[in-house]
Amino acid sequence: MSQDEQTTMVREDRYDAQRIETKWFERWQQDPSLYAAEPNSTKPKYYVLEMLPYPSGALHMGHVRNYAIGDALARFMWMNGYNVLHPMGWDSFGLPAENAAIANNTPPREWTLRNIANMRAQMKRLGFGYDWSREVTTCLPEYYRWNQWFFLKLYEKGLAYRKKSRVNWCPKCCTVLANEQVVNGRCWRHEDTLVEQRELEQWFLRITQYAEELLRDLDRLPDWPEKVRTMQRNWIGRSEGTLVDFKLDGATDSPDSKITVFTTRIDTIYGATSVQLAPQHPLVARLTRNNDPLRAQVEQLIAEQRKAKEVGDIGAIEKHGVNTHHFALNPYNGERVPIWVANYILMDYGTGAIMSVPAHDERDYEFARKYSLPIRIVIVPRTVDPEETSVEPTLPFTTMEGTLVNSGPFTGLDCEEAIKKMSEHAEKKGFGKATTTYRLKDWGISRQRYWGTPIPMLYCEKDGIVPVPEKDLPVILPDNVDITLTGGSPLGRVPEFVNATCPKCGGPARRETDTMDTFVDSSWYFYRYTDPHNDQAPFDSKTVGYWFPIDQYIGGVEHAILHLIYSRFWTKFMRDMGLVKNDEPVERLFTQGMIIKGGAKMSKSLGNIVSPDEMIARYGADSTRMYTLFATSPDRELDWQDEGVEGIQRFLGKVYRFVEGNACPQDQDWHKAVPAHLTGSARRLQRKFHQTIKRVSDDFQGRWHFNTCISAVMELVNDATRRALGSVPTQNPVTGDPARGDEIPLALLADVQRNIVLLLAPFAPHIAHELWEMLGEEGSLLRAPWPTYDPALAKEDEIEIPVQINGKLRGLIVVPVDSAKEVIQDGALANEKVKAAITGKQIVKLIVVPGKLVNIVVR
Ligand SMILES: [Zn+2]
Ligand SMILES: [Zn+2]
Repeated sequence: MSQDEQTTMVREDRYDAQRIETKWFERWQQDPSLYAAEPNSTKPKYYVLEMLPYPSGALHMGHVRNYAIGDALARFMWMNGYNVLHPMGWDSFGLPAENAAIANNTPPREWTLRNIANMRAQMKRLGFGYDWSREVTTCLPEYYRWNQWFFLKLYEKGLAYRKKSRVNWCPKCCTVLANEQVVNGRCWRHEDTLVEQRELEQWFLRITQYAEELLRDLDRLPDWPEKVRTMQRNWIGRSEGTLVDFKLDGATDSPDSKITVFTTRIDTIYGATSVQLAPQHPLVARLTRNNDPLRAQVEQLIAEQRKAKEVGDIGAIEKHGVNTHHFALNPYNGERVPIWVANYILMDYGTGAIMSVPAHDERDYEFARKYSLPIRIVIVPRTVDPEETSVEPTLPFTTMEGTLVNSGPFTGLDCEEAIKKMSEHAEKKGFGKATTTYRLKDWGISRQRYWGTPIPMLYCEKDGIVPVPEKDLPVILPDNVDITLTGGSPLGRVPEFVNATCPKCGGPARRETDTMDTFVDSSWYFYRYTDPHNDQAPFDSKTVGYWFPIDQYIGGVEHAILHLIYSRFWTKFMRDMGLVKNDEPVERLFTQGMIIKGGAKMSKSLGNIVSPDEMIARYGADSTRMYTLFATSPDRELDWQDEGVEGIQRFLGKVYRFVEGNACPQDQDWHKAVPAHLTGSARRLQRKFHQTIKRVSDDFQGRWHFNTCISAVMELVNDATRRALGSVPTQNPVTGDPARGDEIPLALLADVQRNIVLLLAPFAPHIAHELWEMLGEEGSLLRAPWPTYDPALAKEDEIEIPVQINGKLRGLIVVPVDSAKEVIQDGALANEKVKAAITGKQIVKLIVVPGKLVNIVVR
């Protein structure tokens, strides 16, 4: 900085967040390449990413917390010499835009783009260091054309297909929901709305083809939260078992005359005393056709099941069932077993039918006792003596540690072996086979809504389903569509859109009017950031090869199964296409905790929403974002306290005054090297600041407990301020005069100040930049090297111990670290101030807590 600039620089002695933040906001605006990743860099790369927001109109505090974590990390990595990619974008298709558009009578595009502008401005005001040249907006054709392109590729590979199916339908959204979007039987967006079932022709993505790999590779993600991996494991829900066909008694041989059950315990099948169907099982309608009372009972079971789903715990349902008085045949021994319908059997799990083995299954046992069904033991505890057969198990006996009895040719086998042999037998005889089932279902992506990516498919009377040729992409989502009418896809009411020409025969064709689930958009958006303006391909593979996998992804745990499974699937599909080389998109995942207020989730209805704009206006952006990091560790729930933000503002004010009041970069001593061997107060300050650097650096690379590292910086600031102002009385115990700041060499003070600013830079960038300039430092703080510490200087060699007399602090003694009790005691009694305070009195008690405190009680 030139001399001229220095004299004109405003140096106010008060910390004025608004002035400083406005100044730096404007300066940063002028340099759009400030946060840009470097092309052809030789530096190591670091891709840090926060989940992109839905542009609802304004940031909420949860966003601020999420981005404050990511931004602190990005700045830390910049300062550590990495080539950092830190982009931001908008997950901008989806229902809320459509609903808001209806409510506000504004077209979704206009509403969305306006919200994006607002939120982008808020992010800039908060000082987040994003490379805006890479901004991705999923509702724009330059992005969603690649959704369509991927869809065509999926279709080519047989991974996108159309089928009629029972789907989840939210009557409020007027659209289909994925299984992942149904929470406790209700819409994920409408907690008060029960999801209905409808039969519709739908497009599906064959995610189940990757089920095994999605499950297996969870073990290769050690830096993901265990909680998230467990949720994904459960969602994929792999189970090994056997499919077995029970023929209907008296029926002819046709595919619909048998009940296929799935069981994990085929070894118990000789103990099956009934077959049980889900109330929604297709066969139930047939069995109840001429039996009105029975049908009414089944309806009752359906109602009970729905009710249990609403409450959320189908496992806890009170088990009811009805006997159809029809029979099925056990294929192993030809035994007739009754067919029941039960309310706890779910159609969307397994095959919707089970064999009931009361002796060896908890649920079946409970059910059989209730309805007095026979209970037959076919497994007994394994015994050492094979002659001893009288061991009666306690029922239900469900472990695998057993031997088969009453099981025809399989009697005498161990459970494990029996499962293998009996599955093989079923396969040989053609009535069953060993199989692996997954809870994970194919991903239904059709949505009967307007604001989404049009599915690039055509229907020709002659040629059937015809994909839109690649060269005709994008299929543009038309504007000016009446979205207020309900029933059917809004696009179906736009003839210019619907009516098309078949690319195969040139005849008339009808366009698909459903749009894609918005989770398609977010499944691959982070690849686009690496090459956002490519109009020949979704991205350049080589560029993706450089940046991927994402080194650190940060977002809410609510995305543990939807977004984070879909995007893993998408990556594996792209890898199989040869587009990317990585098997997984994200190396390290961090899920931050929620922000609540007054013990409750922030919501409009509770009136406890804290607006970031208001906090910025009151305390400044630095205090607001720093508070979200300081209040608790970032993985935990944060209960918002305005006083906490105020506390941070006070702290930043203290830092400001400390630097402003002590910085004298014009003084030549300021620029000298710190003397090699410091003693006394100077040495203690030096030690503390090396320790603080170590602590903050370690935490960034380890636990991310930013709250504790910010506390460490606070302590350092307090300590430095005290010493610089000479408020530490140890230096002259005889006269009691406070030591002066000049005890601290100016070069050390400069070093401490410079390092405090560097340590604050990731958390409070505006004030850090301001102070950096005030210290006369040249060059961008953003890329200033992160401070290093000297382990020898950080080592504790002597410590201060306070001495209390009758509970009052009377002095501080300095002793070597690890001093014995006697040494500390002698030191305390030799201290001039202590001596003065106890003269003429009797010591009744003297307690020494080594390393901590001396407590003297006198009378
Ligand atoms: Zn809904
Ligand atoms: Zn045709």
